[in-house]
Amino acid sequence: MGDNSPMIVEQNAPLQPHNTFGIVAKARTLVRVRGESDVQAVLAHPELGAEPKFVLGGGSNIVLTGDVKAVVLKVEVAGRRIVEDGPRATIVEFGAGENWHEAVTWSIEQGLGGLENPALIPGTMGASPVQNIGAYGIELQDRFESLDAIDWSRAASSRSTPRSAPSATATRCSSIRRPATATSAWPAAR
Ligand SMILES: Cc1cc2nc3c(=O)[nH]c(=O)nc-3n(C[C@H](O)[C@H](O)[C@H](O)COP(=O)(O)OP(=O)(O)OC[C@H]3O[C@@H](n4cnc5c(N)ncnc54)[C@H](O)[C@@H]3O)c2cc1C
Repeated sequence: MGDNSPMIVEQNAPLQPHNTFGIVAKARTLVRVRGESDVQAVLAHPELGAEPKFVLGGGSNIVLTGDVKAVVLKVEVAGRRIVEDGPRATIVEFGAGENWHEAVTWSIEQGLGGLENPALIPGTMGASPVQNIGAYGIELQDRFESLDAIDWSRAASSRSTPRSAPSATATRCSSIRRPATATSAWPAAR
C-alpha cells in the first residue's frame, strides 16, 4: 500500500497545519511518508537514519511544546480496499494516512457496518490501533484484525497479527514493537 515516488523531505517545516490545537512550531526535518519505502529510505539514510524520530498522524492527540528536533515522519499513506469478504467478517485495508472518519464513511457506503459508533473521531487510521480509539461502546480492538508496521530497531516490516485471526485482541494490538510506524491498519467490519 502506498506509492513509490521519491521521498519528500522538508526542512524547517511549519507544524501548525499538522496539529489540531494549531500550535505554532517547526520540524527541523519533516518527511512525508507515502509508503513503506519512504520509511525504509529514512532508516537507510546516512544522516536521518541515526536521528531520533517522531511519527505524526493527524496531530489530534499531541501537544507540541516547541520546535521538534526529531525527524518528523508525517504519515500520509493512502489506500482503501476490501481484501476479504468472509461469512464472519469483511476485512478492509486502509493506508495509515487515511482519515479515520472518512474511512468509516467509506465503509458504510460499501454497505459495511461495525465502525459507525466511533465515527467522527479525529485522526488517522495509522494512529487508531496505537491509541485503541473508541466511542459509544466500541473500541478499535473490537474490530481490529492486523496491521503492517516497520520496526525501526530492526528496520524490518512485520504484520502484527496473522490475517487469519479476525478477532484480534487488545493484547495482539498492543504487541506492536516500539518504536514502529504503522503503515496500514486492517479493521474488520462485521
Ligand atoms: C475533539 C477530539 C475528540 C476526540 N474524541 C475521541 C474519542 O471519542 N475517542 C478516542 O478514542 N479518541 C478521541 N480523540 C483522540 C484522537 O482523536 C485519537 O487519539 C486519534 O487516534 C489520534 O489520531 P492522530 O492521527 O491525530 O494521531 P497523532 O495525534 O498524530 O498521534 C498520536 C500518537 O500516535 C502516534 N502515531 C500516530 N500515527 C502513527 C502511526 N502510523 N504509527 C505509529 N504511531 C503513530 C504518534 O507518534 C503519537 O504518539 C479525540 C481528539 C479530539 C481532538
